[in-house]
Amino acid sequence: MNASIAIIGTGLAGLSAAQVLSAAGHEVQLFDKSRGSGGRMASKRSDVGSLDLGAQYFTARDRRFVEVVQQWQARGWVAEWTPSLYNSQVGQLSPSPDEQVRWVGSPRMSAITRALLGGLPVHFSCRITEVFRGDQYWTLLDAEGESHGPFSHVLVATPAPQASALLAAAPKLAGAAASVLMEPTWAVALAFDTPLDTRVEGCFVQDSALDWLARDRSKPGRDHSHDTWVLHATSAWSRQHLDLPKEAVIEHLHGAFAEMIGCAVPPPSFTLAHRWLYARPAQAHQWGALADADLGLYACGDWCLSGRVEGAWLSGQDAARRLIEHLA
Ligand SMILES: Cc1cc2nc3c(=O)[nH]c(=O)nc-3n(C[C@H](O)[C@H](O)[C@H](O)COP(=O)(O)OP(=O)(O)OC[C@H]3O[C@@H](n4cnc5c(N)ncnc54)[C@H](O)[C@@H]3O)c2cc1C
Repeated sequence: MNASIAIIGTGLAGLSAAQVLSAAGHEVQLFDKSRGSGGRMASKRSDVGSLDLGAQYFTARDRRFVEVVQQWQARGWVAEWTPSLYNSQVGQLSPSPDEQVRWVGSPRMSAITRALLGGLPVHFSCRITEVFRGDQYWTLLDAEGESHGPFSHVLVATPAPQASALLAAAPKLAGAAASVLMEPTWAVALAFDTPLDTRVEGCFVQDSALDWLARDRSKPGRDHSHDTWVLHATSAWSRQHLDLPKEAVIEHLHGAFAEMIGCAVPPPSFTLAHRWLYARPAQAHQWGALADADLGLYACGDWCLSGRVEGAWLSGQDAARRLIEHLA
């Protein structure tokens, strides 16, 4: 039997691996508990247009990632974002001298993973709860009690806390994933009928419940009728207010925003809050990917490297390369 390879998670790490494996002629099947791909790079559709609630932009430092981002740019999946960038410190706004090249998906962050997924076979709204191996092949069990398989290999591409349970067949891998602490982030989107009277399009915030804010519609390709903003709380604030009702989170972060933005802020005509329970790993690692090649079980994700978009892509590449090398 020529069993295919299961990939759990259609964030950038899982899709990066899927690209390598299918380009090498392997059949893959993808699974995601969400209704669409993207994970923490997903964009939320709303009455005021798509909003990037997770990853805001990304940078490319590793040569391999720089090259692939150039290809994505040529295909129109990403564009450079050159915001009018500020720092806010003790309530004072000052232009940021930072000249980093920043990339965003276009016309929304999720454009990248959607394009990478293409026509690959995928099961959405399918939360995998168990991964187990028979004599030769792997089977996945989902939350509805349905089983999927047989698979020759399984690649777990979820955030670390979710990965550790799925890696139980390889205790060493499960232990490594369980050791990764991931920090939460509360994200709030606000939309105003008339544009705020400020030049700020992105801002790193200090001494506040806020950590970052972005004028979403300043990103290339966005088609917004409103002046849309995305605010991120600090990890510390998010951790302390993990179970606060969404309305209270919106009220608090809207207040912090109005205090630091330096212009009149009318009541927003649209608000939304989203809690990322596992937004970012507390620490970077140098693992690349985790593998038990003899068993045929692999794990990848941003938490195996930098905890950023670039790390997720590189980790997916690493997991797929190791799997292919073991087969050779
Ligand atoms: C608020 C926020 C801001 C950020 N800002 C930036 C930034 O500015 N720049 C930057 O580079 N990075 C940023 N990041 C980090 C970046 O988004 C991540 O590093 C990257 O998207 C991780 O990709 P991934 O594929 O490893 O994981 P994910 O994108 O989390 O993908 C994992 C997928 O697995 C699925 N899944 C989980 N469990 C199961 C299960 N049991 N069964 C089936 N499917 C499952 C999930 O639904 C998800 O789609 C930010 C993240 C957040 C949350």
